[in-house]
Amino acid sequence: MSWFKKLFSLPLYIQILIGMIAGVLIGVVAIQVDGVLFVQNWIRPWGQIFIRLLQLIAIPLVFISLIKGVTGLKDISKFSRIGGKTISIYLVTTCVAVLLGLFLGLIIQPGKLVNPDRVKHIQENYLSVVDEKKQASIEGQKNGPLNFLNEIVPNNLVSAAADNSKMLQVIFFAVFFGIAALTVSHSKIAPVLSFFDGLNDIILRMVDYIVMFAPWGVAALMAGLVADTGGDMSIFGALGVYALVVIAGMFILLLGFYPLLIRLFTKVSVRKFIRSMYPVQLFAFTTSSSAATLPVTMEVVEKDLKVSQEVASFVLPVGVTINMDGTSCYQSISILFIAQVLGIDLSLGQMAVIVLMTILSSIGTPGIPGGSYVVLTMVLTSVGIPAEGLALILGIDRPLDMLRTAVNVTGDAAVAAIVDKK
Ligand code: ASP
Repeated sequence: MSWFKKLFSLPLYIQILIGMIAGVLIGVVAIQVDGVLFVQNWIRPWGQIFIRLLQLIAIPLVFISLIKGVTGLKDISKFSRIGGKTISIYLVTTCVAVLLGLFLGLIIQPGKLVNPDRVKHIQENYLSVVDEKKQASIEGQKNGPLNFLNEIVPNNLVSAAADNSKMLQVIFFAVFFGIAALTVSHSKIAPVLSFFDGLNDIILRMVDYIVMFAPWGVAALMAGLVADTGGDMSIFGALGVYALVVIAGMFILLLGFYPLLIRLFTKVSVRKFIRSMYPVQLFAFTTSSSAATLPVTMEVVEKDLKVSQEVASFVLPVGVTINMDGTSCYQSISILFIAQVLGIDLSLGQMAVIVLMTILSSIGTPGIPGGSYVVLTMVLTSVGIPAEGLALILGIDRPLDMLRTAVNVTGDAAVAAIVDKK
């Protein structure tokens, strides 16, 4: 069994990669031998358990690491400096991502290249899902323009912590708590701080245990995903150009924009950054959730990119919901695509609204699979595009969600390195 031992001494990202490939192979074989049901019943649940464990740890991790992060800054002026810097850089990167998406969508015009017969067929398949998202978006809009503040400020900590999509509310409480703690004399709160210190170490150890399970979990997830397609790839043909435009946008961010930022604004070498990001990206890719990836992002950013714990434990948990460059870029491409398919010409004013809304709404997008649908529906309706258009892109969304999540977490890590630059 020495090969087995050797396998587990390989770097984590290689183990995950092997898991991914094994999962895809299992899925493909299952389709060939009529074993899809077997995969769904006996293999996929292990992947789901893996995701559940990551989601389980996400809220305590965000909560505790943020309290530790804010109190670790020692005084309010340092908090405002780092906080201000973090939010400003997050906004700038999001803005670049949205503009990139608009640029690609306008230049390539993927919506003009779709076969109209296929469009009708695709749309019919997803109308019920769209109705659900539309309802959620109408509920949100009913409460007026300041509703987003309601989404940020919780009225009950326990109910906020009970829902992974309310991460922003947990962040609000943790930052508020941390700020208050900074203003109380250190001698009085020293026991509280050492309590959170100990708690943080325990949570990180739990993370280590979950991550050990990653290659298996990833294999099970991929097998389930491939089995679900049942071998029918026709949707990729119909929406191929749209998918390629999204993929191009993601790769421009990954291989052009972030390396440039790292080169210009940090002392980390671009090679080191790209290499260190592999496990984080693979994790994000398979889980489709920035929140579930947070433990790995934190570990890699601190250990490999050598970002101080003080900065990482503030910048990264905040970034999980606030900063989504991949999602923002994808949203602007998708909006243009839907408008183009439906034959709606967007004015310059409408495009400005798209940019603004996408940037603002990316703040509230939860870092969970498909977290951006409700927000996308909202942006669509705000520029007068029927929300039903969402049905066009849902069928092909999972792989694109995987990719944009990988971009989202890379963006968070890049910003952490920039904020940390001494
Ligand atoms: N899945 C994405 C994330 O977790 C959010 C989205 O784009 O739907 O970052």
